[in-house]
Amino acid sequence: MTDFPTIKVYVSLGSNIGDTDDNLNEAVARLEKYEGIDPEIWSETYLTEPQGLKDQAWFTNQIVRFAVDPELWSPHGFLSTLQAVEGQMQRVKKEINGPRIIDLDLILFGDEIVDGGDYLTVPHSRAKERAFVLCPLAEIDPELVFPDGSKVAELLSKINYRIEDKKIYQD
Ligand code: ADP
Ligand code: MG
Repeated sequence: MTDFPTIKVYVSLGSNIGDTDDNLNEAVARLEKYEGIDPEIWSETYLTEPQGLKDQAWFTNQIVRFAVDPELWSPHGFLSTLQAVEGQMQRVKKEINGPRIIDLDLILFGDEIVDGGDYLTVPHSRAKERAFVLCPLAEIDPELVFPDGSKVAELLSKINYRIEDKKIYQD
């Protein structure tokens, strides 16, 4: 139960090593242990064709919306916690877009806009082009509007992708 005024924080979870559903669940369970971070809506899981490096397993992707206490968390603090959880789960950084046990990306932090370049950009700089982010976002919040006014449904209509049976194909 949440008893504080919260903001909506959307996290994109991805995994393509081991039991990927378990990995996503474990990441959410680890995040839930922090005070002021409560998962409230889980999208379904989607299977996504790898982008960039093709020679690897398909990814399991999901969006989870968290109710976050803004008195305890800033976007930077929240990102540090996502990275801490990636570390706890022994994510090893190898190649860009390469295989990983867990990838946690901060997609939206309420209405906040952060222009921190490579270190932290919110909304996530590639969210608007990625079907594996937009499809689950539209599933859980079809009316969602980004801080710049763009609507999730319109963004989806602008990109090239195909979805069949919760499988997402996008080059
Ligand atoms: P990717 O998620 O793009 O496959 P990584 O997970 O390795 O790649 O993240 C690369 C870098 O992206 C991290 O060092 C992080 O500081 C930066 N970054 C910038 N904005 C964000 C964001 N909104 N969420 C997560 N990471 C971000
Ligand atoms: Mg990441």
